[in-house]
Amino acid sequence: MAEELTAKGGNFIRDIIDEELQEGGRCYGKKVHTRFPPEPNGYLHIGHVKALCIDFGMAETYGGICNLRMDDTNPAKEDEEYVEAIKEDIHWLGFDWDDRFYYASDYFEKMYEFAVGLIKKGLAYVCELSPDEVRDNRGDLTHPATSPYRDRPIEESLDLFARMRAGEFEDGKMTLRARIDLASGNFNMRDPVIYRIHHAEHHRQGNKWCIYPMYDFAHPIEDMLEDITHSLCSLEFEDHRPLYNWVRENIDYDTNPRQIEFARLGINHTVLSKRKLRQLVEEGYVAGWDDPRMPTLSGLRRRGYTPSSVKNFIERIGVAKVPNTVEIALLEHCLREDLNENATRALAVLHPVKLTVTNYPEGEGEVFEVENNPTKENSGTHKVSFSKHLFIEQDDFMEEPVKGYFRFFPGNEVRLKSAYVVKCTGCVKDEAGNVVEVLCEYDPETRGGNTPDGRKVKGTVHWVDAATAVDAEVRLYSLLFSDPDPDASGKDFIACLNPDSLETLKGCKLEAALADAKAGDGYQFMRLGYFCADKDSTPEKLIFNRSVSLKDSFKK
Ligand code: ATP
Ligand code: MG
Repeated sequence: MAEELTAKGGNFIRDIIDEELQEGGRCYGKKVHTRFPPEPNGYLHIGHVKALCIDFGMAETYGGICNLRMDDTNPAKEDEEYVEAIKEDIHWLGFDWDDRFYYASDYFEKMYEFAVGLIKKGLAYVCELSPDEVRDNRGDLTHPATSPYRDRPIEESLDLFARMRAGEFEDGKMTLRARIDLASGNFNMRDPVIYRIHHAEHHRQGNKWCIYPMYDFAHPIEDMLEDITHSLCSLEFEDHRPLYNWVRENIDYDTNPRQIEFARLGINHTVLSKRKLRQLVEEGYVAGWDDPRMPTLSGLRRRGYTPSSVKNFIERIGVAKVPNTVEIALLEHCLREDLNENATRALAVLHPVKLTVTNYPEGEGEVFEVENNPTKENSGTHKVSFSKHLFIEQDDFMEEPVKGYFRFFPGNEVRLKSAYVVKCTGCVKDEAGNVVEVLCEYDPETRGGNTPDGRKVKGTVHWVDAATAVDAEVRLYSLLFSDPDPDASGKDFIACLNPDSLETLKGCKLEAALADAKAGDGYQFMRLGYFCADKDSTPEKLIFNRSVSLKDSFKK
């Protein structure tokens, strides 16, 4: 019952472990030992971070250890590329496994021996029903499952199992089934298949094996061999726990791991399944696993997420047993909060129009100090240049201002951030009537942006110096899925994609200091949002990604 009680933001797993570490408890005197067991068939996503924070986090909390184990018992879709990406992502989050890096496939021989042990005890048998026949004979709530092979002699099963391994039979011809309870109310216990024949090359074992253990048999063995104390996994394994315990109790090995399930993380406007994410990559809907719109760790990193913003998000949603879908706005909020505290402020203009300070001397210039981060003490200032020719945002000028508009319009005074107060005197238009240049005069008495006579200047705008500005491409991202629930079962998630999730701006103007930005460096572009240099950015071709806007745009 205690497992069901969860406070929001609380952690029911901690409560269980606390209890077990008490004198007389299952783990009294033991070190807490967990594992993170990804299947290397894709990149890690934000859902995995929840599991990582639980697995590595619980170990950390209790001064224990956490193994990293590639759950590579399924030969079809696994790949070394994924193994390396998984390691990199976990390290980026700040978790480490020391030398405890394992492959489940390294235990195949042991698993085979344990299976033979079960056959010898009369607890497993070779069944010749095809997968379809097994399904047709699984019974229902009032009828037990059936298999005509259940009572075949032990010697016969031993012989057939050895020949299955030797490659004598084709895929689907036979399985090894645990002999448990054909009438169980839990269908996972109705003599589950624990080995199947699968003639396929394994990414590490090559062609050594043509029989592969099923997850429900393999996982408890992996945990036992590594002396895991707490096997923490997501809720879909809850109904498999009796089988986990059955394997633990019936194979000849003496460690005692316990499986505890927690709710999977779901986030609206996204899909969290490697299979679906892989489809987005393979079918070209995104630019790769690390496309900044992807909920993968590599995508979030490229987008400008920091490890602490991601971990903070997980911390806030807590660990509960009840499935929950979290608003993507909360994830963005955690990033915004982090970057507000830590990102350097910079001047950048995304939709530039020329601003000419007509009474400023041509060919001259000066330097202003801009605060690096007003929220952080001692974060210093950096220099930005100023001259007669500047850029401002197109929408910071309106020839005919609407009510409440305080920025550039003829006759109005505006503050150029950290520089001068200027008065707009008009604009220049092209033949088509588009504004191509805004004109103003500066007041030399207002250096730094203050008015000595105390007159009010309502609008402050950002700007960059045309003489030193650097050009950049800026990529603006919005939700990858316009549908709030693309992950819902039975939904065509591809049809839920947002066709406008990427807007690419060219010819943006950035202050000169940004020419040195390195991939991942995050900035607040004043008044615009948080941006970071993309991994493909070079000094010759700067590229910035918008990490998140300044304000929550998801308000209801
Ligand atoms: P996917 O459907 O994305 O492939 P999976 O569960 O098959 O997910 P694994 O690589 O097997 O992915 O997962 C490794 C661990 O991460 C497992 O313990 C799993 O329970 C956990 N995990 C995966 N997705 C989530 C999620 N959305 N929320 C919490 N934990 C998750
Ligand atoms: Mg899986």
